[in-house]
Amino acid sequence: MKILVVGSGGREHALAWKLAQSERIQMVYVAPGNGGTARDARLVNVNITDLHELANFVEQEHIGLTVVGPETPLAGGIVNLFRARGLKVFGPTKEAAQLESSKDFAKAFMHRHGIPTARYQTFSDVAPAHAYIDAMGAPIVIKADGLAAGKGVVVAMTLEEAHRAVDDMLADNRFGDAGARIVIEEFLAGEEASFIVMCDGKNVLPLATSQDHKRLKDNDEGPNTGGMGAYSPAPIVTPAMHARVMREIINPTIAGMAKDGIQFTGFLYAGLMIDAAGNPRTLEFNCRMGDPETQPIMARLKTDLLGVMEHAVNGTLDAVELEWDRRTAVGVVLAAAGYPDAPLKGAVIDGIPAETAETVTFHAGTAEVGEQLQVTGGRVLCVVGLGDSIKMAQKQAYDVVDQIHFDGMQCRRDIGWRGLKH
Ligand code: ATP
Repeated sequence: MKILVVGSGGREHALAWKLAQSERIQMVYVAPGNGGTARDARLVNVNITDLHELANFVEQEHIGLTVVGPETPLAGGIVNLFRARGLKVFGPTKEAAQLESSKDFAKAFMHRHGIPTARYQTFSDVAPAHAYIDAMGAPIVIKADGLAAGKGVVVAMTLEEAHRAVDDMLADNRFGDAGARIVIEEFLAGEEASFIVMCDGKNVLPLATSQDHKRLKDNDEGPNTGGMGAYSPAPIVTPAMHARVMREIINPTIAGMAKDGIQFTGFLYAGLMIDAAGNPRTLEFNCRMGDPETQPIMARLKTDLLGVMEHAVNGTLDAVELEWDRRTAVGVVLAAAGYPDAPLKGAVIDGIPAETAETVTFHAGTAEVGEQLQVTGGRVLCVVGLGDSIKMAQKQAYDVVDQIHFDGMQCRRDIGWRGLKH
């Protein structure tokens, strides 16, 4: 079978890499892909991002299944379009993707269905937003309603920062339409975890647990980023916590969507905050896999992903039992100089070693330019190491990181630190 993966990040490289391992795969196309998917002999990049053109390509090439990585095409209705043309695709419809594409939609939805989350209010006018902040006090969290590539959230530790965030978003239009409405919510303390499941409209299949590292620098310091590394499994999600998240968050979300007349298909990602007393609350939903969580998760998945995807689009996920590598996977992101504010492009990347049974390097912001591999985006590579413990997985990953070079390369040296504490 031929398959198409839509996207160009490390998440899509990891999905395509895993799909290509299936014996029944004839070809994995990646649109538009990156330098790593270009170099992998089993993958073929296609330079198309327009949704109609993608559907034409799928028809012409007789592609049996499309898997969508990022949120933008999902919010743009790629699943609606493909289905209308009779093409098999795994992902949420535009309506279902509102759980991610509008924070106001997600918060109102959680409120209506009793799903634990931070208290909030939505504003489109400046004055009442400022008044709400003064009434609530700091710390407090200000979020642009729409998609802002992970940059539309300000965790304000002071009232001054909070007021400035409101002015930036509502008065100065910093995020354009995405920030024309804002959600202001209660600050939640605790430890975050990523809880990702696959849904076929009826059945829910949880993936392995994971934890992201949002801040740029070690010890969770520095600015927020798209994610500087992730590891799986996350020890904070004990079997009891897993059962509780399914019962209190995931199942009510799928059921609530159905009650509201929206069938949820695709990956559902709940970003959790687990407080000191062990209560999980939902920080956000994403309607896709996480990046970088996908990279360590795919490195641990033993089950044939093509088979799982086929069950997912046919509504038979209840027949699937996933098998995971018992080892821990640690994924370390290597970012460009200047990331996240102003990543510098063009640096030449050297020293990426070949994949082994313990390590694999997924590409994101890379492109082949002649014989060279060059930096083209903020997050450049994600090196995944597997080991019998977090420490051993870290050693595998960082041994590879230390072989790779490009000018201005940034990475954290502590991916997995929270897991070591447990
Ligand atoms: P992404 O899609 O890249 O994960 P996003 O723009 O959807 O990001 P959120 O995940 O909602 O934004 O928030 C980003 C980060 O801000 C969270 O991972 C968390 O660290 C912090 N955060 C968000 N909401 C809260 C909250 N209520 N209390 C404390 N921290 C929060």
